[in-house]
Amino acid sequence: MSKAYEIIDHTYDCVVVGAGGAGLRAAVGMVEAGLHVACVSKVYPTRSHTVAAQGGINAALGNMNKDDWRFHMYDTVKGSDWLGDQDAIEYMTKNAPAAVYELEHYGVPFSRTEAGRIYQRAFGGQSTEYGKSQAYRTCAAADRTGHVMLHTLFQQALKNKVEFYNEYFALDLIMDEEGACRGVMALCLADGSIHRFRAHRTVLGTGGYGRVYFSATSAHTCTGDGNAMVLRAGLPLQDMEFVQFHPSGIYGAGCLITEGARGEGGYLTNSEGERFMERYAPTAKDLASRDVVSRAMTIEINEGRGCGPEKGYIELHLEHLDPKVLHARLPGISETAKIFAGVDVTKEPIPVVPTCHYNMGGIPTNHLTEVVAPKGNDVDAVVPGLMAVGEAACASVHGANRLGGNSLIDLVVFGRAAAHRAAETVVAGAAHKPLPKDAGEDAIGRLDAVRHANGETKSGAIRLEMQRTMQRYASVFRDGPMLEEGCKKIGEVTTMLDDLQLNDRSMVWNTDLVEALELQNLMTQAVATMHSASYRTESRGAHAREDFPERDDVNWMKHSLIWVDHAHQAALGERPVHGYTLSNDVEPVPPQKRVY
Ligand SMILES: Cc1cc2nc3c(=O)[nH]c(=O)nc-3n(C[C@H](O)[C@H](O)[C@H](O)COP(=O)(O)OP(=O)(O)OC[C@H]3O[C@@H](n4cnc5c(N)ncnc54)[C@H](O)[C@@H]3O)c2cc1C
Repeated sequence: MSKAYEIIDHTYDCVVVGAGGAGLRAAVGMVEAGLHVACVSKVYPTRSHTVAAQGGINAALGNMNKDDWRFHMYDTVKGSDWLGDQDAIEYMTKNAPAAVYELEHYGVPFSRTEAGRIYQRAFGGQSTEYGKSQAYRTCAAADRTGHVMLHTLFQQALKNKVEFYNEYFALDLIMDEEGACRGVMALCLADGSIHRFRAHRTVLGTGGYGRVYFSATSAHTCTGDGNAMVLRAGLPLQDMEFVQFHPSGIYGAGCLITEGARGEGGYLTNSEGERFMERYAPTAKDLASRDVVSRAMTIEINEGRGCGPEKGYIELHLEHLDPKVLHARLPGISETAKIFAGVDVTKEPIPVVPTCHYNMGGIPTNHLTEVVAPKGNDVDAVVPGLMAVGEAACASVHGANRLGGNSLIDLVVFGRAAAHRAAETVVAGAAHKPLPKDAGEDAIGRLDAVRHANGETKSGAIRLEMQRTMQRYASVFRDGPMLEEGCKKIGEVTTMLDDLQLNDRSMVWNTDLVEALELQNLMTQAVATMHSASYRTESRGAHAREDFPERDDVNWMKHSLIWVDHAHQAALGERPVHGYTLSNDVEPVPPQKRVY
């Protein structure tokens, strides 16, 4: 069958899959280090989801008040509910200022203070002096920080002559008999040709899989393709039960209203007009960590104090703020609220509900961005040739819950780390071993099978079933019976793929085909999330079990691992959390009860 497809071969030192903030930062650094680099992206780079990031990027620059990377580390460990690896968190927070200055020098037009320094705003879960007072750590370019970051990094990539393969859809990793990654297979969407990229290092920067849920702030392209490729290569994903629900998605539309809205002084009320966060988080109130605010909102709605005719949402108030502040600091969300909720934010509140926003789980890596998977007794064994960065990766700096502003910094710190690591370990232009004889055949076989699917159910219908199942059984609150039912239900939904119908068999710009491939990818991650959630019998960070309401450090201070095979059967395992730091500059943060 594969004979019908001609393969076009390419050889590089490194191939980066993904042109979001993480992939671009990695690619730029690799070229700067003298490596020959291809960057493969299914969308044109500036359409990557990073473009939608609003609020900002965290680094302890101390431009607004005294700050220290150790405070940032403390907040991140606490935010992670002690599931984050402290070596990786130390690495990220310590390198954050340098990574932000580097962005500034690359040309990111940050908002400025009176004194001309980078403007920093308050965000949830952030403090100075280890929890004593609110920090101002989130560097912002109005409410379009991701947009300017992505465009700037893309310009740097063009300047450095990264070789782009835009609108190429990566299908699967090429693995050899020794378990090393040797490259990746891709489909050129414009003309349907098949490409085989051979590289010493393959870097996955493919983003999150938010679209597994019905209501999500993420782009339609956030389908976790890299995560799915890793599962198909027989490797595990980590901490897939941890999904962040952002407190302020616009009711009905899902679009994000940045946490920066609360950082600038916005607040939430229930149907009684009560500022209920004062009850749930007496100190941090509306700026408590995201999981805390989302749970409080869900309780208010579930107990009948939601707003609107169906008591279905919470109100976010900005109308008391100076219109000049709204105009200068939150222009984008003022427009979003107008378009998607019909609300003039200077006059009335915005209807919001907790909405799927970020995936803490993903491809397990060490702090050097090398993918790891247990091998014999070595739980941290490196998978040769394979690296992962950004939301696709689980380094793990976010643990059980990510702090706002910590993803953008994760992208650039670890994008940079990937480039450094590749520069250290790859000799530019070094000869490649021959590829395995059947390299890429599985990928082509799968593509061919999807292309000729002749069942009766359209991918849109299957996707909806999957999204509804996830929304219903694996949302803000979970419990045992519900998750058991959820595992059964999602298992049934996976079988719908056997009945997939494709209208268009063309190889040229066939969006029907791409959606079906993305659906396959989403489905394995739906299974992974549901089963991981059922496995972890405690509450930690974003994973809130009503039947196990407490955090259980004795039994559960560990990462979950999950493998999902071709028949969608899941197998679970574990990895220890790194409770140590890399240097003597800082002590590990000992576990405490997490209160705000
Ligand atoms: C609305 C919104 C607002 C946010 N605001 C903030 C914020 O203010 N601060 C913050 O820190 N975080 C924020 N986040 C989170 C943050 O923006 C994301 O986690 C981050 O941008 C992800 O970047 P990435 O580089 O990992 O992936 P993305 O930017 O998602 O890029 C993924 C890339 O992978 C490519 N790709 C995927 N699959 C394939 C495939 N099969 N073949 C080829 N290419 C592929 C895509 O083409 C794309 O280039 C926000 C997220 C959202 C959704």
